[in-house]
Parts: sequence; structure tokens; C-alpha cells
Amino acid sequence: MHPNKIYRVGEVTVTKIEEMRLNVAPPSFLYPNYDPAALEPNLHWLTPSNMDAATGHLIQSIHAWLVRTPDHVILIDTGSGNGKERPRNPIFHHLDTPFLERLAAAGIRPADVDYVLHTHLHVDHVGWNTILVDGEWVPTFPNARHVFARAEENYYASPESHNDVNIPSFGVYEDSVAPIVAAGMADRIANGGGAYLDNFIFHPTRGHSIGHMSIELHSRGERALFSGDVMHHPFQVIRPDWNSVFCEWLDDAKISRRWVLDFSAENDSLLFTPHFAETSAGYVTRQGDNFSWRYE
Ligand SMILES: [Zn+2]
Repeated sequence: MHPNKIYRVGEVTVTKIEEMRLNVAPPSFLYPNYDPAALEPNLHWLTPSNMDAATGHLIQSIHAWLVRTPDHVILIDTGSGNGKERPRNPIFHHLDTPFLERLAAAGIRPADVDYVLHTHLHVDHVGWNTILVDGEWVPTFPNARHVFARAEENYYASPESHNDVNIPSFGVYEDSVAPIVAAGMADRIANGGGAYLDNFIFHPTRGHSIGHMSIELHSRGERALFSGDVMHHPFQVIRPDWNSVFCEWLDDAKISRRWVLDFSAENDSLLFTPHFAETSAGYVTRQGDNFSWRYE
């Protein structure tokens, strides 16, 4: 595996910028409907890269995708960020990762980023939007337009929807999205999705979150899809009926997962995931009524 593998989609390149790897969640935690009988027939491909055989934990990644078109430098989602206050969420609390150094190693300074496209506004997808300077959260990417669904903004900006200290998104909008909005650096995507720039289409894939979007990339007749949190682990490619514990609208989440799998299989398009291990990218293939996964 090469962490900075460069994928080509037509004239566009895509590279993973890693923030961290996780080996913490047993499948019974991540998937409330987990069926232990599903493990045995899949162990041969799940271990060792997708599952730690010793602990039984699922292995996951948190990262951003760096996309370079002939005209623009783009990030798809921005990980969890450094120094954020997440006292109820130890995985994300007071992080100190070399994410910006890794971005620099890929040849990109923060000022080079033209656009930040968000699949949704959860804790592990908006964190690097801001950094702490003199006690204030300020935009990390000073020249970037930040693009997200209006439905996500409306929901997370509202105290009623997320002002409980016990929920994972507590405080996230305030320190990682509100400063972007206040600086006039936000563009919104309508509920129905739609085209953005020359190379992108936002597709509504509501369910994991209220206005979740999967982002299609197209160039010279080739297509790829940034799925967002429609799936958290390749186990869900073979069990699309399993929602994660973090999915909020359960019926919609299943429909959206099925849509992403159908899109990927029918278009033979690269799927760039936010949380799969290894390269985090690959292909979905139809197997009768089911699907299989292979990393690329
Ligand atoms: Zn996520």
C-alpha cells in the first residue's frame, strides 16, 4: 500500500491525505444490527487489512482526498482537525496530527486550496476547516470556497438539533463551520444536489446525516464517486442492510447505500471512501443480488 497513491480520473488526479487510522470499533458497536454469523465466511478477506484478527476490531481511516483538476486544487472533506475540544469524544479530543505536513508533502500549502467540498458536516469531515490562532478559530485555507449542503448547515447551525453535550457533533459547527460562514467563504448546495465547477455533481444521499451528499467527479468520460459516510467499512458492501450506529435517518441511509453501490457497479467507477482502510479507494462489483469490494 502506498499512502500517497495517485489516481487518475480523466485529466484529474486524486490523492489521499491521511489524518489517522483507527483500530477501536468492534463490529457489534459500529453496526447495531451486526450478525456474527456474517463474519466467518468473510474473515479471509476482512483480515488483516480491514479487521484486526487479535482484537476483532474493525480497522478504519480518517483522511481527506486531494483533487487536482487542470484549473483547481480541491479537498473533499477535511478530517477532524487539531486542538479541538471534544471532551465526550476522546478519538477527536485535542488531536495533534501532522495533517498539514502531509498535505505539504503532496505539494500543497493551505493557501493553494481553491475549494473544500463537504459530503456532510460531521466532526471527522470538517475539522481542518479551521485552526486556532490567538485563541480564535480561523479558516485554515484562506483562499478556499467551502461548499456544503444547505440542509446540513441549517440543521447543525440550529441549537435545537445538536446542542446536547452528549452527541458527537456538539460544538463542531461552532468551531469548524461557523467561522467559515462568518468569513463569507461558504457556498451552499440545494437539497436536490447539482453540478459544481466543471467536474463535480453533488448527489443527495441523505440518511447518515440530514443533507448528506455523495460527490461525483467526472473528467473526459471517466467517473468516480466520493461516497461520504454512506458506508464506514467494506463489510457494508456485502451487508448494505447494516446502518452504522452514527446513521440518523435509518431507512434513508439504506436507500442511499444501495444507490452508491449501484452507481459504482454500473459505472465501473472508482469509489473514494472516507473511512475504509488500506488505500480507502476501490471498485464495487455486482455478484447476483449482492456486491463485492476490491481495493485499487
Ligand atoms: Zn465520518
